Amino acid sequence: MGRASLPLSCNAILEKRTLLLKRIAFISVHGCPMAVLGTRSAGGMNVYIRALAQGLGRQGFAVDIFTRCHGSDEPLVNPLDANTRVIHIDAGPEDAPKEDLFNYCPAFLQGVNAFAGSNGLHYELLHSHYWLSGWVGQALSQEWRVPHVATFHTLAEIKTRARVGEAEATSRSATERQVVGAVDRVIVSTGHERLALQQLYDAPEDKVRVVFGGVDLDLFHPGDQRAARDRLGLNGHQTILYVGRLDPIKGVDVLMHTLSQIETCRDVQLLVVGGNTDDAESRRLRTLTGQLGLAGKVEFLGSQPHETLPDYYQAADVCVVPSYYESFGLVALEAMACGTPVVASRVAGLQAIVKDNRSGYLVAWHCPDAYADRLEVLLSNDALRHSMGKQARQAAVDMSWDRTAQGVAAVYAELGVRPQKG
Ligand code: UDP
Repeated sequence: MGRASLPLSCNAILEKRTLLLKRIAFISVHGCPMAVLGTRSAGGMNVYIRALAQGLGRQGFAVDIFTRCHGSDEPLVNPLDANTRVIHIDAGPEDAPKEDLFNYCPAFLQGVNAFAGSNGLHYELLHSHYWLSGWVGQALSQEWRVPHVATFHTLAEIKTRARVGEAEATSRSATERQVVGAVDRVIVSTGHERLALQQLYDAPEDKVRVVFGGVDLDLFHPGDQRAARDRLGLNGHQTILYVGRLDPIKGVDVLMHTLSQIETCRDVQLLVVGGNTDDAESRRLRTLTGQLGLAGKVEFLGSQPHETLPDYYQAADVCVVPSYYESFGLVALEAMACGTPVVASRVAGLQAIVKDNRSGYLVAWHCPDAYADRLEVLLSNDALRHSMGKQARQAAVDMSWDRTAQGVAAVYAELGVRPQKG
């Protein structure tokens, strides 16, 4: 596979600049921070990895993010900023389905090793993201004799319990268990996930640390709703927003049924940001829209660049996150940072972000009646919506990525790895 490499001089400058910094290797087999978000499996994990790596860079680490190559014209080394870069490793076909990726992990492991060896790089610590990377990280940490920290983002044992019909690779749960047993620390986003790790994976309590995810407060901030609507060319109807991948676990069908209940009494529209027209779930949801007589009320906008999302959050009256499982739920936090109230399912991650009756509502049942009830209350009361939006923003300002990076750096420090003092 022919790929463009950065000019040597450019690599050399970066190398020199980060020479004095402590190096961290992020392993992210399938979550490339440069992937198009909201499609296939690219979403919150990709955003998290990029933002955390850059946050750690600001703390004084140099972070290399190793991920699978997913396009033949991608450079091998891609600087994100002065201290952070993405390294694309050839391991398996570019379009290999996620279910097959475990087969390519040995090749990925070899690729990371070869890159580190040929560039004379020593990493102080490995931080793996998702179970596939946990497997790679564990093998590398034994070889390099450095500490290994794992963040799973989602766990098979919780996912399969969350929604009937969710199937996971048989090797996933067993590998997660092995990694939990072997790593030095596991970082989770919420106390709920820590409890699940202890109960379902026998994780020792002193191995697990809770560090909240974050939001880019420079990008996601409140703004004039009418101006945002004008920029997006929206009509005057009240607007419900969904943002995210289109995957059955996201519960977007519940939102469609909800809309069919409330649209009889209100002029509302639903904007769906994320997904590809050729996704199976996207096709299913479009068909459902027709069956429910909602054509003209629902707009499928496909995946949108992350930087444009503030316009959507600012334009919306309410953002709905009806997921069956969410280990954290960045979309809820981004909406809140833009001053938009959130109606979300009462599941682990979302429960930690959205405060019921303050920054929005949590809905206990995946049932359209319950969502319709909460949306009706919000959409019919401007003052309530504005006050909840204000409280949402206030809650979000405490959750910057720098704070997340500080929390993660504290976990590294427990393992004797500290940033270089400037
Ligand atoms: N996102 C995006 N463009 C889209 C759809 C989603 O940038 O078209 C981003 C969104 O802003 C959020 C992430 O993808 O940062 C989704 O994260 P979340 O934790 O809500 O869901 P996950 O993908 O982890 O299930």
